[in-house]
Amino acid sequence: MVRGRAFPAGKKRATPYADCFMAEKLTPMMQQYRKIQDEIPSGALLLFRLGDFYEMFFDDARIASDILGLTLTKRNGVPMCGVPFHAADSYVGKLVEAGRRVAICEQTSEPRPGQIVEREVTQILSPGNTSHLNLTQPKENRFLAAVVHHAERIGFSYLDLTTGEFRLTEFETASQWEDELLRLHLRELIFPQESGLPVDVEAANNIFEAPYDDWVFEPGFAEGHLKEHFQVQSLDGFGCTELTLGVAAAGGLLHYATNQLRASIEHVSSLTPYSGADHLVVDAATQRNLELVKSLGSSASDTSLLKALDETVTPMGGRELRRWILQPLRDVATIERRQQVVARFLEDIGPLEDIRAKLKEVKDLERLISRLSQGAGNARDMQALGKSIEPVPDLRQLVADLETPLSDELAESIEPQPELVELIDRAITEEPPLSLKEGGILKDGYFDEVDELRQASREGKKWITELQLREQERTGIKSLKVRFNQVFGYYIEITKSNLDQVPEDYTRKQTLTNAERFITPELKEMESKILGAEERVQKLEYELFVQLRTEVVTYTRKIQQIARAVAMLDVLAGFAVTARLRQYCRPQIRQEGRYLITEGRHPVLEQLEDAERFVPNDLNMSDEDCRLMVITGPNMAGKSTYIRQVALIALMAHTGSFVPAQAAEVPMLDRIFTRVGASDDLSRGQSTFMVEMNETANILNNATQQSLVILDEIGRGTSTFDGLSIAWSVAEHLHSQCKAKTLFATHYHELTELAVICKAVKNYNVSVREWHDRVIFLRKIVAGGTDKSYGIQVARLAGLPKPVLDRAKEILRNLEENELDATGQPQIAHSRNDPDRPKKRKRKSTAKKKTIPQMDLFKQPQSGSPT
Ligand code: ADP
Ligand code: MG
Repeated sequence: MVRGRAFPAGKKRATPYADCFMAEKLTPMMQQYRKIQDEIPSGALLLFRLGDFYEMFFDDARIASDILGLTLTKRNGVPMCGVPFHAADSYVGKLVEAGRRVAICEQTSEPRPGQIVEREVTQILSPGNTSHLNLTQPKENRFLAAVVHHAERIGFSYLDLTTGEFRLTEFETASQWEDELLRLHLRELIFPQESGLPVDVEAANNIFEAPYDDWVFEPGFAEGHLKEHFQVQSLDGFGCTELTLGVAAAGGLLHYATNQLRASIEHVSSLTPYSGADHLVVDAATQRNLELVKSLGSSASDTSLLKALDETVTPMGGRELRRWILQPLRDVATIERRQQVVARFLEDIGPLEDIRAKLKEVKDLERLISRLSQGAGNARDMQALGKSIEPVPDLRQLVADLETPLSDELAESIEPQPELVELIDRAITEEPPLSLKEGGILKDGYFDEVDELRQASREGKKWITELQLREQERTGIKSLKVRFNQVFGYYIEITKSNLDQVPEDYTRKQTLTNAERFITPELKEMESKILGAEERVQKLEYELFVQLRTEVVTYTRKIQQIARAVAMLDVLAGFAVTARLRQYCRPQIRQEGRYLITEGRHPVLEQLEDAERFVPNDLNMSDEDCRLMVITGPNMAGKSTYIRQVALIALMAHTGSFVPAQAAEVPMLDRIFTRVGASDDLSRGQSTFMVEMNETANILNNATQQSLVILDEIGRGTSTFDGLSIAWSVAEHLHSQCKAKTLFATHYHELTELAVICKAVKNYNVSVREWHDRVIFLRKIVAGGTDKSYGIQVARLAGLPKPVLDRAKEILRNLEENELDATGQPQIAHSRNDPDRPKKRKRKSTAKKKTIPQMDLFKQPQSGSPT
């Protein structure tokens, strides 16, 4: 029994599949639907092409209608919803950004009566594979990654399908791996189903997790899979010999990309291992706190270091700069090679401007060639590719003229491709259309048959124009018109008033209010010639374009090589522009030793438009005399700014950038840690204090003599005594055990006493001046501690009502004078002119146990002598 009913008449979306849902027995189409659904990854939404719509059924429909805000309809009890095919990209984009995988199922045969249309899943889009959807910002990557772990070690690999970048590495600890996840801003992570993830990934990272078959991660299989893809005998050529787990992750990842996501990976042409030891490690908290690539606050303006430094003019350069900031170098020689290029650019502005002008002509080579090789690129992509390669010879010459070791190497890589430029230029018209199926792609003279067909269609059209004149004369109807539309093709239109003059050989086709439309046999004959030629040329142009694309794609490796060199060059030129604009200096890079800054500035704050004039400050740290600075000073004085600026300058120096200072001497660091106390991290669902202590533990366990540690007000999240005690012992440990260079900004004045017992602890404060009961911030770091916090003065700046301020001052005086009541408690409740005010009694011995026992608490520890 068939329960299906036809769609109600008049409904716009009356489709030919009206009676395909049956309660007892699935219709052939639904059987097909079920079969296809079984073949795609579980949880993926199936977008099923039906005529002009992609339809979703059952749970998929519920989920999608929720995410997309579409109306859920029901057909014989089956929930469904759909999106029109021509607008599908934006809907699919939303589903993917909502963390869903989406399988696109197309019709692969023409509809025939009584026969079911064949269908096939052509691609699976996912958070890590958005293919042609253009969801990713030009200056960002979109990474898909895999992780495997075995006996404490972690193998990791990531891949950007939009650029072809493919890397692998291994980690010793889960926390190193977690830092890497944040650095990469991953979208999708796969792992072997059985063994799972090394540790749970924080939900806040917003990573789509996809368990995958264990066997593809077997080292033997994974290696074989990679060798087959790269067509090599061994992976030694890529330098992966020792990285068994990394290779396992990479092999599994590639398998997932091709077999599960059905992505095309022809453009993934190499695999590059990397190691944390080669880089200055910037852990997740530090990335956040220093606002390296993203602002912390919700303020509209981007206050990240990336934004402040970014003068790149190509998308490749933008992505490269982000990489350099999050993965600074640790090798003196490599950094100096970069510095040499920047310095060379600064000597003479001419080459810098010329090179940047050429760079601006280079579009996103990596993504263009990726799209083309994935079969998604159109004629505009190909034209953009050709135009981007065109300036290469000039660029190469300009770079070669710089004559530094690194620029010579880059010039070598920027290899001209004249045949490719010529090929594309000869084939593609000046303004190619978006569509590949409607002709108009190829230049005249590229292919004879195309020219002939175009000629035929042109002549036909000319014949038709002439026909109008001829018929006007023959019939004597001046207003006779020959027109064209999609439904009727060519026709002759005659207004009502002239109908009596219509010749016999006209056949009526359609009646309008004011006119009638006619055809003639000779008109129809010419029409079929024109349309036939157009149809043929469209098909031919498409075929020729696909051939051309295949040929262009053979240049993938060369283009990727140019892209990489262009990226570096762009970043270095950008460094020079910033350095010139902001008067940066070239830092001296040392293997180890002191960290010196003369007149340093905060690279981001000094650029803010509404900021006060930035006051520069010095730094002088050394292993022997000053490796831990305790920085005190009132709220708002500039402590946090100063310690961040010191960290940022160090980090910038490690990227090869010049730095915002008059002079600087920077030792090679292994890690930078930053911990900021009392910041609420509610999004991560942990108490503030717990987060603070976790991160502090991470620092104490990992900091070495080569590390730079920035501590801002730690110990604030608990009671004063607790907090102070923790802050004290943390500082002591850093000084005496880790020996890391540390800047400790604190509101605990008591910490200044550390300098008494620790040789390399030095006190500094941010100076302020009092003036008529107000505080003036001088923003200068000076030697010595402070003993006053100016809290009330700062509160005044914040606009606290005057009575509240006056009362606070009174209480403060009471406290400072240690006034006690009859029971020996501090007398703060009473006002000065209160008649009931108890007699003034100095607190001395009575209250001794209530105050902080000063030097007792700060006695030297039993074990471990301070250095
Ligand atoms: P603290 O940590 O001591 O409370 P901050 O470092 O947060 O103070 O600085 C407070 C504000 O003072 C900053 O937002 C900035 O506008 C300004 N500021 C800090 N240092 C300087 C400086 N060197 N020159 C100019 N303005 C500064
Ligand atoms: Mg602060």
